[in-house]
Amino acid sequence: MNPAAALRRATIRTRLTWTIIAVSLIALLTSGAAVWVLGLRSLRDDVDTRLALTRAELRQMAGSGADPVTGRALTGPAQVVLAHLERSNLPPFDSELGIVDGRARWVSAQGAGAALRSDAALMDRLLALSRTGESVIETVETASGRHRVLVVPLNDGVQRAALARAVDLDAAEAELRSTMGLYAASAVVTVALAGALSWFGVERLLRPIEELRRATDSIDERDLTTRVAVRGRDDLSALAGAVNRMLDRVQRSVETQRELLDDVGHELRTPITVVRGHLELIDADDPDDVRQTRELALDELDRMGTLVAGLLEVARSSSIDFVSPAPTDVAALTAQVFDKARALGPRDWVLGPSAETTAVIDATRITEAWLELATNAVKYSPPGSPIRLGSLVAGDELLLRVEDRGIGIAPQDLPTIRRRLARAPQAAALAPGTGLGLSVVENIVTAHGGALDVESVPGRGSIFTLRLPLTPGARAANESEGVS
Ligand code: ADP
Repeated sequence: MNPAAALRRATIRTRLTWTIIAVSLIALLTSGAAVWVLGLRSLRDDVDTRLALTRAELRQMAGSGADPVTGRALTGPAQVVLAHLERSNLPPFDSELGIVDGRARWVSAQGAGAALRSDAALMDRLLALSRTGESVIETVETASGRHRVLVVPLNDGVQRAALARAVDLDAAEAELRSTMGLYAASAVVTVALAGALSWFGVERLLRPIEELRRATDSIDERDLTTRVAVRGRDDLSALAGAVNRMLDRVQRSVETQRELLDDVGHELRTPITVVRGHLELIDADDPDDVRQTRELALDELDRMGTLVAGLLEVARSSSIDFVSPAPTDVAALTAQVFDKARALGPRDWVLGPSAETTAVIDATRITEAWLELATNAVKYSPPGSPIRLGSLVAGDELLLRVEDRGIGIAPQDLPTIRRRLARAPQAAALAPGTGLGLSVVENIVTAHGGALDVESVPGRGSIFTLRLPLTPGARAANESEGVS
């Protein structure tokens, strides 16, 4: 398989492990190369310093014409070279050669003297260099390896002698090479260890992602109850929390749709049965019966139409993106809604108070909810009774109110009235309705991050309040607090 395709198909665990191996390999190779280059350079510098020192010592001895230790007089270059050879203390890779009149005369017994004697090519080169009359330091390559050589010719006009010193570079570098071999071996072990540790470490690190995958795999429309375990407070647990919150929303939405379908089925069955029953029993020859049945059928169909429209509105208002909040002048909105509400019925309409503020709300949806409350206030109160509509700010909340002096709600009905299709018996006896209005109102306030409050005293009246955050940010902050 081509490597790019293989990499694309590899798991994140494999990819991360290989990346860690590659990075540690590059790091070790780079530092190894740096150690090698610097080690080599310092070794060569050492050799050259040693050779330069030898040359300086020899020249000084030749200049003074006396042995600096014993004070013995040195007569001629050959004696200077010999005196040097006698006293020099050579490291194992160095050898020295005394040359008199162009011929090899003495070879050092210490260091690599024996090797020098057996390397004819090196010997020839040293003799040749001594004949030039110039002092040189250069690298000579022979069959036995590379050598750094120094040749110092001495000439007093009578006699010509020279000192040659050779350093076996290959042997001198052998120690560095073996250190680098050790380094390479430990680098291989380090990379292997890094690979093994990251293979298991990455597996541990990615376990939450694997759990997330398994959990999301097991979720389908029939079972939306599975949730991902959230451990710790890192970014992966934040992801798990976000997935759980998304599942909560999807589950709520699917359940709402399911319940809505059940309600639709249940509510439409009765009028269909009624209409069908009457049509079956109709006496086509009796014009009165035909007219009555027709009226009844139309009436039921109208009711069905209202019901279907109401249910659709509930479904629409429960979708996540139902509201689009924008900064809204609350005092102006209060006045507008009040004007519209007044047309709903002959009541003693009172405006106030009115909040002089700007709130981030969806003005259209809030108007819809507020008017729904006003419609109920009209429906469940006697003509001429007072209805007060107003807005006020309490803390960081905006309160939009409708207050009536109508039939009120019995305490036992208070918890149920906001449910879909629920109606209090006294209300059902007083006015027609579907029991869907408050569900839409509640969906609208919930979508704003607020709540619907109801206070009521039977026979005295009710206060319905839309409680909304002044800015929608408050809701997002609350949600994220529950993450961990
Ligand atoms: P509907 O008004 O069509 O019945 P709603 O969902 O608007 O449906 O209201 C649900 C129930 O809440 C009503 O049937 C009624 O019992 C009660 N209700 C709502 N508003 C008022 C009110 N202002 N006064 C008394 N009862 C109310």
